[in-house]
Amino acid sequence: MQKEERRVRIGWKEGIGDKQCRYCKEHLQFAHATSGKDVQCLDGVYNQIVNLYHCPDPQCKGAKEYVNPSPRLDYSNRYYGADVFRFVAKAVLQFKLKTVQIHCMLRDKQVKISESTVREMVKDVVILKSDAIDHKTAEIMTKQGQILLALDGQQPDNGTKSLWLFVDLLSNRIVHTQLLDKASYENIHKIIERIVDKYHVKLGGVVSDKQGNLVRCMKTYYPEVPHQYCAWHFTNNIWKHLEMLDNCVHMEIKKRIKESILYTTPQEYNITVDGQGTKEPASKVFGPVKKDLKRLTKKHTVKFETLHGIELCKELKEFCDGIEAILPDLPQGIQLTNILEREIQKFRKIVKKVQERMEQVDEALTLFKTMYALLYETTRNPTQLEQQLAEHFDVVGKLAQTYGLQTKREDLKSILPSSKHKIDVYYAEQVRLWDKYREGLFQYQHFSRDVRTNVFIEQLFSREVCYIIGQKCKRRIGFVIETQGEYLLRILHATEDELDADILESFSQERLNTLRGELQEKIAEKTSEWVNLSNISTSCQYLKRAYGIVDMTTPFTQ
Ligand SMILES: [Zn+2]
Repeated sequence: MQKEERRVRIGWKEGIGDKQCRYCKEHLQFAHATSGKDVQCLDGVYNQIVNLYHCPDPQCKGAKEYVNPSPRLDYSNRYYGADVFRFVAKAVLQFKLKTVQIHCMLRDKQVKISESTVREMVKDVVILKSDAIDHKTAEIMTKQGQILLALDGQQPDNGTKSLWLFVDLLSNRIVHTQLLDKASYENIHKIIERIVDKYHVKLGGVVSDKQGNLVRCMKTYYPEVPHQYCAWHFTNNIWKHLEMLDNCVHMEIKKRIKESILYTTPQEYNITVDGQGTKEPASKVFGPVKKDLKRLTKKHTVKFETLHGIELCKELKEFCDGIEAILPDLPQGIQLTNILEREIQKFRKIVKKVQERMEQVDEALTLFKTMYALLYETTRNPTQLEQQLAEHFDVVGKLAQTYGLQTKREDLKSILPSSKHKIDVYYAEQVRLWDKYREGLFQYQHFSRDVRTNVFIEQLFSREVCYIIGQKCKRRIGFVIETQGEYLLRILHATEDELDADILESFSQERLNTLRGELQEKIAEKTSEWVNLSNISTSCQYLKRAYGIVDMTTPFTQ
């Protein structure tokens, strides 16, 4: 293969930097050029020569400093050009592409590069960008003087530690992330102190989902600082119970529909469809009916809005009304009409059976929506809202008694969501939750911004998990979260402008080496855990072998 090499000489580009000695202000002069270096750019390989300049005064310190601030093809001492690196950065940060895809695109551009080199570049992009984001955060925070902190932890399914995220709600910046073995209230306190010290800010308030450790931390160390309990989590705790109540309505109806011959429509089964005795396959005759029923069973619950059991029940009633309306027009006494009549009766029966439960759930849903609207209401003042919600939950408490609850309000114990609970237990649980959350639900009134929830943190965690799955790391989610989660969260939370900003802006090889060291440490720590784990299993096997538990002929490792 022939190698087409082009030579590029980088002189001092007009308008870049002062061409002056930084010590004596003397005009810099050409000293010598670097020897040629091959640089792989997007449009081919170039041999790059850089002119270097220095102070002409041999007595000046500047005489031994050879400089040229003009942009080069490469960055630092790499073989690949700055444009290749910028290309990778754009693909990762703006288009969220996978390493394999980026590799393919570069190969398509005739850039000779291995997949593992692309992978290393992707890592560099992620750590550099996340570092740049932190810089901007520090700039913003130190000007702010105050912090309104939202915090939450993420426990990866197959990970050992949890990743804690701290966000300032005034600037919407991630101010800190940390992997914790144990998120004790003392540990959380230490982190908050570190954040406050680092940015020289006053802690103006905290929003959390009311985990025990956080409540204890705030009550012990910051009794004066307002602590808002997340309104979304409070609402969701109630919703989870309501969903379960509705589920049993849904399950019963769905089961009956799926058993119906209108739904199963056996292929080989022929039925008479008119007075002349014409036969057609049931699957053909009931095809459209089956489609309708299938659509009904696919109804989804929409969080805080609709419940699939109630929806299904209402629509099944309408379905029965519709069929019954056309029954008189069908020929009587033939199989088609008989089957429809019989099946509609079965449907009516199941609707009747769940009717009471359904009405209860429907009533509960209406009450839920009233409560939800009040909780997020913005026109009335917090004191009024608290009063109204208190009255609302008093009504709910009375309803619980009406439905048969005996336990006193102060003796209520927490319950897990279950479709087996009766409606009185559900109402009682709501009242109990309200009594627990009330003190923290209106603390936002002491904040400089109206923030009632920290749910966006949970959403950010889910986006992070989706991103990791999208990168084909499904089986290693825990590992990726523990080693790279801190960077990914920053990138996923950053603004578009931040992601678009040049990846090589204020690039320094030294800084990159430090950042790489930090990432390597995280990975090494995590992999050393694996080594220890495999040691344990090796010694287990050894012991089994030694005591003759395992047949000696089986291979040592499996
Ligand atoms: Zn000089």
